[in-house]
Amino acid sequence: MTDRPKLTIYAAPELGAYGYSEKPWYQPGERRQTFLGAVADRAPELSHAEAPPADDAALSLFHTPDHIAWVTARCATDQGSLDEAPPQVNARSRQLLAAIADADGSPVTAEQLTQVLGELDATLAAFAPFLQSEELVTYDGAADAVEITEAGRAFLADPDASLGGPTYARAGVEQAARYVCGAVLDAVARIAAGELRKVFVPIAGFHHAHRDRARMYCLYNDPGLAIEAALSAFDGPVAYIDVDIHHGDGVYEAFAAHPRVVIADIHEGHPSEVAAGGVERTGFVGLGEGIGNKRALAVGHGTTDAAYLDAWDDLEDFVRAAKPCFIVFEAGVDGLATDPMSHQALTPAVFEHVARRVAAIADTHADGRLLALGGGGYEATGLAAGWAAVVRGLLDPD
Ligand SMILES: [Zn+2]
Repeated sequence: MTDRPKLTIYAAPELGAYGYSEKPWYQPGERRQTFLGAVADRAPELSHAEAPPADDAALSLFHTPDHIAWVTARCATDQGSLDEAPPQVNARSRQLLAAIADADGSPVTAEQLTQVLGELDATLAAFAPFLQSEELVTYDGAADAVEITEAGRAFLADPDASLGGPTYARAGVEQAARYVCGAVLDAVARIAAGELRKVFVPIAGFHHAHRDRARMYCLYNDPGLAIEAALSAFDGPVAYIDVDIHHGDGVYEAFAAHPRVVIADIHEGHPSEVAAGGVERTGFVGLGEGIGNKRALAVGHGTTDAAYLDAWDDLEDFVRAAKPCFIVFEAGVDGLATDPMSHQALTPAVFEHVARRVAAIADTHADGRLLALGGGGYEATGLAAGWAAVVRGLLDPD
């Protein structure tokens, strides 16, 4: 076993293509380039691997056949979204937008407009946090001018139209997602075979996809696939540790009742639930036979390194006590202070510490078997520093 590489990277260009050209912070190819640049100084210690894309049979380890068929067919059209709003969101949004359209050009107080816009934002946010009312209506408070956008008018004009979530149907993304899933499945198989030890797949960790639906830029749930493969390969507990600043809802829902899947998740809570700077245990404590081996902590806005690491210590003890024989680690760095998708005050040092500790748990209990996934991170400088910190931690366990 001593000749296993210290850390193996799957970062072929096909995975790097995952991205949405509509979003300035999610350009295809950029996050992979950022990663490779960030770890160039550790290149001699890294080995590289590649794998073919996952086929339908491989994806069905986690996903329903209907989901795979829907995603594939819809993405082939290069149009629309995979995560359309449910009927009640569409109906309420249409009512609110109609009220604004009626007011368009007629005397209505700024206060009334603000109230309607506020409810529209809240309605949309409950469905998809990144979908903002600005896509449907623009409001210039200074000029007291409101305007329904072209997209808003089209939505109002067609009573059957659905609001689209941000997971646009794109053939290029679907192909990249299959490469991501192919890479994590190849990694689990080769780790299980004793060929590889620790693996990092930077463009991976799409934890919001559910077994039967896409959500929040996530088509297929590669952590879920990795967990399923590890459950088949090993008899003992499989740990899923998720420090991406968003809750790993797709993984949690899929394995909430699973007695052998240990989940430790730390994410940003809504200000209505967690005070700024605070930490709360959440209700994601498992179901049925899964109760007792799931723990999730929500941190408030503005969490500092010191407070975060206190919270992490709790999760580390929890995972250690479970003695996992395989670890899947979603190492999203979108909790960094510089990231546009969160409200935290964290520095890369947090992610280096956590990666080091996760690697140490793997060494103690799992003969080093660890699959780390890059997860979120949407600001280039922070992303580079964050992923470089993760790689340092994985290379140098305590
Ligand atoms: Zn995230």
